[in-house]
Amino acid sequence: MTTKKIAVLPGDGIGTEVTSVAVEVLKRACEAHGIEIETESFLFGGCSYDEFGEPVTDETLDACLEADAVLLGAVGGPQYDDLPKQHRPEAALLKLRKTLGTYTNLRPIKIYPALMGSSSLKPEILEGTDILIVRELTGGIYFGRPRHTKEVDGDVVATDSMVYSKSEIQRVAKHAFEAAAKRNGRVCSVDKSNILDTSRLWRKTVSEMAPDYKEIELSHMLVDNCAMQLVRNPGQFDVILTGNLFGDILSDEASMLTGSIGMLPSASIGDKNGLYEPVHGSAPDIAGENKANPLAAIASAAMLCRYSLDLTEAASEIEDAIDRVLAAGFRSGDIYTGSEEETLIGTDEMGANVLGELKKKAIIR
Ligand code: NAD
Repeated sequence: MTTKKIAVLPGDGIGTEVTSVAVEVLKRACEAHGIEIETESFLFGGCSYDEFGEPVTDETLDACLEADAVLLGAVGGPQYDDLPKQHRPEAALLKLRKTLGTYTNLRPIKIYPALMGSSSLKPEILEGTDILIVRELTGGIYFGRPRHTKEVDGDVVATDSMVYSKSEIQRVAKHAFEAAAKRNGRVCSVDKSNILDTSRLWRKTVSEMAPDYKEIELSHMLVDNCAMQLVRNPGQFDVILTGNLFGDILSDEASMLTGSIGMLPSASIGDKNGLYEPVHGSAPDIAGENKANPLAAIASAAMLCRYSLDLTEAASEIEDAIDRVLAAGFRSGDIYTGSEEETLIGTDEMGANVLGELKKKAIIR
């Protein structure tokens, strides 16, 4: 058996609950394909601040760099909201992404047929929705300098800077074109080029790359229109390529198409090892109650198999098992509508059911 090392960062709140379930599924699914998964867990986020006085330590960052991939839960909690920004749990996320050089975030937005009823949109609008949002992750306004809050002429003025270089745009756009080539061949690049200089550079750069990807149909859309189109006709999109700030907002909007943020996985990739995490936060309102939906974390583990371990088959097997658990009517609280065909279950049972489906197909014992 080949061994792969996975650094596990459960984080805070429900992060710990969903990650332990996802690790179990990952281990069992990979074992079936001759890959032994060796995991080591590290404190990350609020719990790391409590223990070490910083949200992520250099030792943890080094271990993440050395591993074959990183599986993360979620960070944060109200007790950390008033800390100085370098101590806040979110600072650990930004530092980790910077350290791993994961400049591209992939967020699949897939509608599970069994969950059509959980979405706030009508089934006929959702029909056929299968989007991959490719978001630039280490540039733009979240990292740009200057950045400060100052007193100016007796008033308080805060400044953030949106900065993009051509090379930053090119490297993320490449991932979008390549992903589209493996999907339905369409990239919609989203910007605000009617107002922003960074967006004009974005549009020009992506357009210049298009001739290298002749089989891909490239279109451009302003971000405000994209926000509307996502709820008007989401089926029109294949790959959406966008910057850090727009991608953050659009991917959360798109998450509602699926019915719950508890269903959405993500992958952050670059030139080194990848980082895999559910889109949701630490959900302090339900933490420690075995109520969290672990499917986004399990689907993130499937993405880890696909993008970091080259185990496409294991990834598809995990995703199919999730489909079947949902089709059988099992629901965590966030996707439970109360219908008679549904059975309300907790985090651990959901994980056990996914393993059960893998067993039924004789993928694992
Ligand atoms: P959240 O995603 O934690 O929760 C939003 C709502 O969705 C809550 O009602 C929660 O119960 C529900 N929810 C989220 N995930 C769920 C799941 N898997 N199963 C069932 N229900 C789920 O967002 P928030 O409440 O805005 O933030 C809470 C904390 O998480 C904050 O400290 C925030 O900074 C942090 N946060 C962290 C990340 C991350 O680690 N990547 C992302 C977003 C928010």
